[in-house]
Amino acid sequence: MSFSANDLLWLLLPLAAASGWLIARYDTGRKAARSLDLPSAYFKGLNFLLNEQPDKAIEIFIQVLEVNSDTVETHLALGNLFRRRGEVERAIRIHQNLIARPTLDREQRTQALLELGQDYFKAGLFDRAENLFLELAEVRAHSEQALRLLLSIYQQEKEWDKAIQTAQKLGRVSGKRMDDVIAQYHCEFAEQALAKKNIGAAREALRRALAVDSGCVRASILLGDLEAEEGRDRAAIQAWQRVEQQDAQYFGEVASRIAEAYRRLDDAQGLYRFFSEALQRHASVALVLTFADIIKERDGVKAAEKFVVEWLRRRPNVHGLHRLLELNIEQADTGVRNDLILLKGIIEELRQQHQGYACQQCGFKGRTLHWLCPGCSHWNTVKPVLEE
Ligand SMILES: [Zn+2]
Repeated sequence: MSFSANDLLWLLLPLAAASGWLIARYDTGRKAARSLDLPSAYFKGLNFLLNEQPDKAIEIFIQVLEVNSDTVETHLALGNLFRRRGEVERAIRIHQNLIARPTLDREQRTQALLELGQDYFKAGLFDRAENLFLELAEVRAHSEQALRLLLSIYQQEKEWDKAIQTAQKLGRVSGKRMDDVIAQYHCEFAEQALAKKNIGAAREALRRALAVDSGCVRASILLGDLEAEEGRDRAAIQAWQRVEQQDAQYFGEVASRIAEAYRRLDDAQGLYRFFSEALQRHASVALVLTFADIIKERDGVKAAEKFVVEWLRRRPNVHGLHRLLELNIEQADTGVRNDLILLKGIIEELRQQHQGYACQQCGFKGRTLHWLCPGCSHWNTVKPVLEE
């Protein structure tokens, strides 16, 4: 076990404070003898810590606490330190011992309960953590923090009903808007309902998501998926098209879904018109590539190739080059084809570096779209990377 300089500082600061307190006590000449043990006990405890004997250190620190409750901060810091290091049982022991002291004032007790709740959460004892945080949410000075911790439990446990109620309360208490997060919870609920084939409940949850946050891209995507699943392709197209107004950065997510729905409807004219008009508004890579397929279906390989070459002249990029090679391979003789396939393999690797998703908060990168960032646990921060 090794402690960083920062960790040591945390432990030593209260010690310094305690020494100051001691001198003050000594000066006034009251109860000096009783308190004299304090620094030596701390050094002893610190020694055990440094010698990788944390349990002995805890014994010493707990003894010090028996004598004196001015050291509560140190115990809180120590418990916190153990929890951060993943030694949750030790953290629990320290915090439980602290709470058992009758001398704690109300604020100190609440603080210790908050810490203990986080220990339970980290240990996976969600019921105990939930009970503590529910109680603390009623204490006004700590309700925001308690509600946030409750939210992490409900997210972890996928209890979306409770998450929605808690986020609404948190919004009122903190004065910060939680609408986009609440909409995500409704979407999570909808996905759960969809998995159970409960279409009615899923539809209602998506309606609520869009009611609380009209910019919720995920709700539009899911609603389109639901409509398509039900064989209502016109309604599906309508839902997916909404993504363009909500956040054009995500439009690529639905481009191929929209194209497939038009094809199922056997509406080649509608398909062509929609994409040629959409391209006037944004020439994003996904749209251009989808349109290249549409041209190929309608007017043949040569026409598609011409379209891609024109686009590449205006905006040179690996995705266009990749598609151009694919179109060329289709038309090439055997000799040239092998060279083109080799070239395509190289471009493929380059292309992968320009694909995927990134979190705008913490920089997390991934191949799939996460609505809740696995890196920093923020909602709505992962976006498709710039495709150029
Ligand atoms: Zn992140």
